[in-house]
Amino acid sequence: MLMKILISGLLLSSTVLIATPQKIGTASAKPKLILQITVDQLRGDLPDKFMKNMGEGGFRWLKEHGIWYKNANYTYSNTETVVGHTTLATGAIPAIHGMVSNVWYDRVKKRLVYNIEDKRYHILSKNADVDDSTEVDSSQALAGTDGRSPANIMVSTFSDELSLFTNEKSKIFGVSVKDRGAVTLAGHNGKAFWFSKTSGEFITSSYYYDTYPDWVKKFNEQKLAERYSDRSWTLMYDKSKYMFGNSDDNPWEEDYAHFGRVFPHAYKSKDNKYFNHYLTFSPAGDELTLDFAKALIENEKMGQHEVTDYLAISFSSTDYVGHIFGPSSLEAEDNMLRLDKTLASLFKYVDEKVGLDNTLIVLSADHGAPEAPGYLAKLGIEAKWIAPLKWNKKPSLKRLEKKFGVGQALIEAFFPPYLYLNHKVIKEKGLNLAEVQKAVAKEIMDIDGIALTVTSTEMRNNTLPDTYLYRAALKNFNAKRSGDILILFEPHCFANDMDGGAVMASNHGGPWTYDTFVPVIFAGNGLKGKQIFRSVKPNDIAPTLSAVVNVKAPSGANGDILEEVMEGIK
Ligand SMILES: [Zn+2]
Repeated sequence: MLMKILISGLLLSSTVLIATPQKIGTASAKPKLILQITVDQLRGDLPDKFMKNMGEGGFRWLKEHGIWYKNANYTYSNTETVVGHTTLATGAIPAIHGMVSNVWYDRVKKRLVYNIEDKRYHILSKNADVDDSTEVDSSQALAGTDGRSPANIMVSTFSDELSLFTNEKSKIFGVSVKDRGAVTLAGHNGKAFWFSKTSGEFITSSYYYDTYPDWVKKFNEQKLAERYSDRSWTLMYDKSKYMFGNSDDNPWEEDYAHFGRVFPHAYKSKDNKYFNHYLTFSPAGDELTLDFAKALIENEKMGQHEVTDYLAISFSSTDYVGHIFGPSSLEAEDNMLRLDKTLASLFKYVDEKVGLDNTLIVLSADHGAPEAPGYLAKLGIEAKWIAPLKWNKKPSLKRLEKKFGVGQALIEAFFPPYLYLNHKVIKEKGLNLAEVQKAVAKEIMDIDGIALTVTSTEMRNNTLPDTYLYRAALKNFNAKRSGDILILFEPHCFANDMDGGAVMASNHGGPWTYDTFVPVIFAGNGLKGKQIFRSVKPNDIAPTLSAVVNVKAPSGANGDILEEVMEGIK
């Protein structure tokens, strides 16, 4: 009897095995590779705006073959690079993942800190640290060390969960020109590489490796960045083909580090101290990122293991181009066409190496892009730059001094969007913190261009009205890192480099739609083209990826699983 049951059990199993092979052979539910692409500063409408002149294999392929969410918005107030990347990686809001801004004030260290700085883990290359004399990235320039790690990210990432699920069998990498674009998505257990604007190489820190893998050494020995030496960024097509062909030279564009305001933009010689910076201000930065990603896919045999591998690539050029020239410029338009080419080349390569049917691609952005104030003004939309260091503080400080017996000493640090009060002084003077916060917040509210100030006491006590702006402020509030007062600017008002000196054409970082609106696109792995118009959030991506590979969602994730994706890959 026992034998009979065993035999029929065996028969049953073999029947099941025979009945299901088609599913294993075609687009399998579990992808061999998850390719998470982030385009820095890609506002949701920009791919469609410039699609007319795009080729076949990039955005057009995503449109025809991907599930494209056309109404995805970040829900928190501080739409900056590290905040967005960490939200994409973790599915959490900044209140929970802790990366509340590119720079915050550390009350223990008593200084402003850069989001991923970590003095325990130095970069592995010599002469590749940020060079303060040339660094255009003002937040990166504030780092107190060359060391980098994901230690400040307070929750797990999707990539961490994948690693836990497979007991580290999944290969996990993050690659970007920007260190924070790579470190965030690689998570705590993956490996991150980023571009050194000092050495022109792709580098990493001792958090990830003791020495460079051989293939990275070989890649860097090729000195691919130097192929741009004595060349220029030129237009891909004749000027007449472009939407902005007749407006190359706009007064609001920035001649940053003498890269010029009109085509052709000369990269100059490799010995020029800004040479590697120029590459990042142009599509060359993305092209180099693509070269490195291809070498990584080849050498790490991505997508060729028994478990799902994960590669995150963050393309940074769109952000630099947007800041320097604005998103409505000939430079931004040509950059989009070249980004499209870069994506097409990446997808073709992945198809050859892994197969797009075995690869789940997800593309999004860390934040959107505001139009340059100069351009908006030309169209009759009032816009302005806010220069925090130029605020006339004297009358406010006088009033505070009258009320509390102390004025300037109440303020410990200020870096938009947060102002930090000096808790020690407030305690020593026997003052009530909530009252001081309220009084300072009221003074700031009177400044032209400020939409709202919110105190940390109001946020802790949850005494706020249930409005869009307060909800966005709360989602950005982390009790340890956020300041005493959050300052939000009105629509089309932008903080520039603090003192009013024009250093860029446009700047993101607010709660308004142009900054919150990003594309969310899933493609590959058997998915079919579809446009979805219901409202979704970029923090739905990590829980959705988790559901696709059956791992638990990251520890702070609060997004929803996108059902169209789950149904599409069934
Ligand atoms: Zn960014």
